[in-house]
Amino acid sequence: MKLAERMGRLGTESAFDVLARARGLEAQGRDVVHLEIGEPDFDTPAHIVEAASAALRDGHTHYCPALGLPELRDAIAEYISRTRGIDVSRDQVCVSPGAKPIMAWTIQALCQEGDEVICPNPSYPIYESMANFVGATVVPLPILEERDFRFDPRDLQARLSPRTRLVVLNSPANPTGGFLDKTDFEAIADILRDHHCMVLSDEIYSRILYAGEHYSIACEPGMRERTILLDGFSKTYAMTGWRLGYGVFPRELVPHIDRLAVNSVSCTASFTQKAGVAALNGPQGPVEAMVAEFKARRDLIVEGLNSIPGISCRLPLGAFYVFPNVKQLGLSSKALADRLLEEAGVAVLAGSAFGDHGEGYLRLSYANSIPNIDKALERIAALASRLVA
Ligand code: PLP
Repeated sequence: MKLAERMGRLGTESAFDVLARARGLEAQGRDVVHLEIGEPDFDTPAHIVEAASAALRDGHTHYCPALGLPELRDAIAEYISRTRGIDVSRDQVCVSPGAKPIMAWTIQALCQEGDEVICPNPSYPIYESMANFVGATVVPLPILEERDFRFDPRDLQARLSPRTRLVVLNSPANPTGGFLDKTDFEAIADILRDHHCMVLSDEIYSRILYAGEHYSIACEPGMRERTILLDGFSKTYAMTGWRLGYGVFPRELVPHIDRLAVNSVSCTASFTQKAGVAALNGPQGPVEAMVAEFKARRDLIVEGLNSIPGISCRLPLGAFYVFPNVKQLGLSSKALADRLLEEAGVAVLAGSAFGDHGEGYLRLSYANSIPNIDKALERIAALASRLVA
């Protein structure tokens, strides 16, 4: 079969590959601790499940507008206005099946051959994959451990060119847990204001934060009309499998996103959207409880990793990932991740799966129980001691 040439440029997410390999080992009777996949291990809060059940019973089982139910778009506009302190209205909101399509649609609508897309590196692999797919050139922006996994604004400045079409920002960040504060965004906005590029601000982890306050680049003067703000329900409300996300767009982009949605998904499931309304407008206690539990697990895993000779780990401020430095263990990230899975029964991701600047690191998701994290730490320590011996 002859595939289109662009298929050769499409990447993937290694989390799904590693998960499949781990499941294969489990099928052979092996015990594997899963620290590879980025999804809360909590159940979706009961009132959200109930709202979806009620919607199904009430017949919300048909096509609906491509950009989403007006009721949900209103709830999202109100939520973003309140949490980001900016004025957003329904006509800027596009609902999608998961937040991922917002990346694809944004990049398809804005970028083409000859354009440059600045992506943090390491970062969520789909930005780069989609940019390559549409023929744009990816310009990596190094994320630095010594800056607590932020980038140096001077590096951003140096990478901007007349061809820069899009800059991707992600805070709190996958895979590092890094966090950009208001001062960082002020510096970034000062640099970007002189350029005509757009910004994709991935804020999917905005509520999974252990210190400080979430801040959006869209709050900076002059940036809102150039920012696509991506957020969703997967992480905040433990709804990964529901597939519900959204983007807040500059108004002139919305009709184009509408057409991309019609061409690709038609619409997002309407009973899922009804559940989204319940999530945003209902009690937020379950989110707070989940974040408190993540914080306890973060503290445990960071302390445990730092006690292993050859591994050092910064304390991340957000998301549910740690990104330990494993350079002293003397293996490539990929070789170490493979041995951890095959020899030790711990599924983790190689930092290099998130870009070249992730080499020398692993990504561990601590969206798993404390007993399982303890078990994983013991197994990692045992393999590390063999490697440094
Ligand atoms: N953005 C980042 C940074 C992510 O880590 C993820 C999922 O892992 C997504 C977006 C995608 O979210 P969704 O599952 O809602 O498509």
